Amino acid sequence: MKSCPQCGALCEDDAKFCTTCGQSFADEVSQAPRVATKAEFIALPENQPLKKQLSTSGILCYIFAAVNLIVTLVTGNTLGILDVVILLVLGLFIHLKHSRTCAIILLIYAVFSVVMNLIATGKLGGYLIVIAGIYAVVSAFKLDKAWKEYQGK
Ligand SMILES: [Zn+2]
Repeated sequence: MKSCPQCGALCEDDAKFCTTCGQSFADEVSQAPRVATKAEFIALPENQPLKKQLSTSGILCYIFAAVNLIVTLVTGNTLGILDVVILLVLGLFIHLKHSRTCAIILLIYAVFSVVMNLIATGKLGGYLIVIAGIYAVVSAFKLDKAWKEYQGK
């Protein structure tokens, strides 16, 4: 037996409507529990693929930061430390905070780096970070769109 949320009358468990007041039980059962914040929304099972994509982008940033750190140590070019810090911070915010803003900054930074590298050396390098940046931006925007749709429901 279950009780009607409207009038409190007891009804059969498989009843679709309350036999006393006619209240529908169907819409209650079909509604999943609502989440209040974006962080809670990201934690929902259906958002795990997008969350994983953002985490991957963040982890790629850590790898690029490590590569930059090694290059910096080997070449002694202390300016490279700046790239290491930028990549680490952006990676952390994308990985842990799923930040769309940081994903956009990463993409801009990556494109800027490739262009600067091309001007300085005449070689096309660092484009892997651009791919990671595009990946991060696409995932972050998809997540944001899903969140907006969820809120609009
Ligand atoms: Zn009722």
